[in-house]
Amino acid sequence: MEIIKNVKGTHDIYGEENNAYEMVENLMKSVAELYAYHGVRPPVLESNSVFVRGVGSSSDIVRKEMYTFKDHGDRDITLRPEFTAGIMRMVVQNKLYATNELPLKLYYLGPVFRYERPQLGRYRQFNQFGVECIGHASYMQDVDVIAMAYTILTSLGLDGVTIKINTLGDDESRNNYREALKSYFAKHIRNMCEDCKTRFELNPLRILDCKVPEDRPYIDNAPVINDYLSESSKERFSKVLNALETLQIPYEIDSSLVRGLDYYSETVFEFHYKSKKGIDYGAVGAGGHYGKLMSELGGPDYPGVGFSFGIERVVSVLKDDELLENIKDELDAYVMPLGEESNLYAEEIAVFLRNSGGYRVDVCADNCKMGAMFKRASTKGAKYALIVGETEVNEQTVVIKDLQTQEQNKVKVEELVTKFDELFNSSKEEE
Ligand code: AMP
Repeated sequence: MEIIKNVKGTHDIYGEENNAYEMVENLMKSVAELYAYHGVRPPVLESNSVFVRGVGSSSDIVRKEMYTFKDHGDRDITLRPEFTAGIMRMVVQNKLYATNELPLKLYYLGPVFRYERPQLGRYRQFNQFGVECIGHASYMQDVDVIAMAYTILTSLGLDGVTIKINTLGDDESRNNYREALKSYFAKHIRNMCEDCKTRFELNPLRILDCKVPEDRPYIDNAPVINDYLSESSKERFSKVLNALETLQIPYEIDSSLVRGLDYYSETVFEFHYKSKKGIDYGAVGAGGHYGKLMSELGGPDYPGVGFSFGIERVVSVLKDDELLENIKDELDAYVMPLGEESNLYAEEIAVFLRNSGGYRVDVCADNCKMGAMFKRASTKGAKYALIVGETEVNEQTVVIKDLQTQEQNKVKVEELVTKFDELFNSSKEEE
């Protein structure tokens, strides 16, 4: 029968790669916890309007990339293409802004779905980890969020991350800039790509995101936001940059950075990293400040700032730079019963060592020959083999064999955890 393959743009994660995902995700969560953030889990399914109103109808995501369908109750449902709008829906609906001290500091992790052209570093289902800090307009929150993202990347071992940063200014700045772009692009738009023609009508700022090489000269000569910033936006941006310098966080100003989602205002940023193999997977993370998102979703007018990492891209650069080499998922012990009558005893020992000792233990359950079990123990990277036969069952003992030195010891079952603690402590000291 023909085998069924995974859906285009999705990928299976297993084996060592799964260990890498776990390590990266755990590190991200623990840094977020150090920065006083709390985890949230919004649903994957949201009403379509969460993203149309939240992300904005002129964004590429809403125009072209959402997985939207009618459910059996004729509702328009969307598989989340990003987290921020869904989290804001959660905050508004559950009035989290009223029942908690502000700012709310939330982190999230999970799959998102975008109907994009699959290519290097670009999937249709991928995983994001990110944070939202909601409720304070202070530029210092932007700085704190950038510092957290930078800490995550450097803690993973990435050296030489580039932070591209820009400001989109406040409403007044953006409206003036939009008008300037409109009159500039009006002269060129007929020579530009079809997508840009639509962007010109919907939101000319989006044109700056265009990746078509023939459009580049027009974009490179377009007006820059800096010339249209209000005094307060200029001051806010320079405070952000000063603070980054004080914290010794390197950055590069990129005045063409506008980000693909409509809700951003003031500070926006992206994290780039070229792996040692020279491969550029695109930004490993990105984020920014937003002003109107909560009120767009029916809540009060609280601003926020957040970022999001693409886990796939982070794992890819770590793999290229050989920073995943030291992740191991070896066994502490492999329990080997000699004959069917020792199976239950072997299982008891495995459960005991795991539950009382916290050791990582597997057990052979299919009556293998001794040689085959040793082979398995070695494939699984076990440090010790625990051998139990009829004699051990009767004596309530276990034979512990060190698979490196081949040394053997017999211990009473009640002393097993203490013996393991000794063995593992002394091997840690040797290291
Ligand atoms: P965004 O929500 O577009 O700001 O994206 C945040 C991060 O998610 C990006 O910086 C990427 O690391 C990652 N990302 C975005 N789109 C994709 C995709 N199609 N496949 C894999 N990762 C992605």
